[in-house]
Amino acid sequence: MANRIIFATGNQGKMEEIRQILDGCGMEILSMKEAGIEADVIEDGATFEENACIKAAEIAKLAPQDLILADDSGLEIDYLNKEPGIYSARYLGEDTSYDIKNQALLYRLAGVEKERRSARFVCAVAAAVPGSRVFTTRGTIEGYIGWSMSGANGFGYDPIFYLDAYGCSTAELSMEQKNALSHRGNALRAMKEELLKRGILK
Ligand code: IMP
Repeated sequence: MANRIIFATGNQGKMEEIRQILDGCGMEILSMKEAGIEADVIEDGATFEENACIKAAEIAKLAPQDLILADDSGLEIDYLNKEPGIYSARYLGEDTSYDIKNQALLYRLAGVEKERRSARFVCAVAAAVPGSRVFTTRGTIEGYIGWSMSGANGFGYDPIFYLDAYGCSTAELSMEQKNALSHRGNALRAMKEELLKRGILK
């Protein structure tokens, strides 16, 4: 049985979130850097789940004794046939600023009424457990694309993604508020449940 969890990310914010959610699970939780692992995985899957599985399986090859968790996430806009989807980070180019990406999406939705501006953030989390097949959980958060950018918190597409229940964008929520309802939080909480159910976490 593994006694360490390695989360396949270099992102400090994600590490804080996963530590918060898995707190008290009795296993050490490490980032790839903390585990001394370096890997540049090519995410060429067709879905969020496939990409998360590819990442988890590749890292598991480098740390076969450990429980590996990996995530993949993005924004789906219904009016744009679920673009940018799995290409969210690469949309208009990896190095293009989110000011430009967000402006471009607002422009593509110019004149579109509220009912057709529905969108969601999606996150798939994959677990590679020594001796078992890789499995995944999914979390989403439903919202809509607003008419302008608003808010300075968060990252990426947060300034254009609005929640009906809050009447503001996810860039206007505090980190605690967003983590409590985010796609990544939901997928990680579902993964924690699944790991408990399978007896991998106690
Ligand atoms: P990754 O899963 O870290 O590769 O993230 C994919 C991309 O999806 C990010 O670079 C962002 O463009 C977008 N994304 C994922 N989650 C969020 C979020 O919570 N807010 C804003 N953008 C997000």
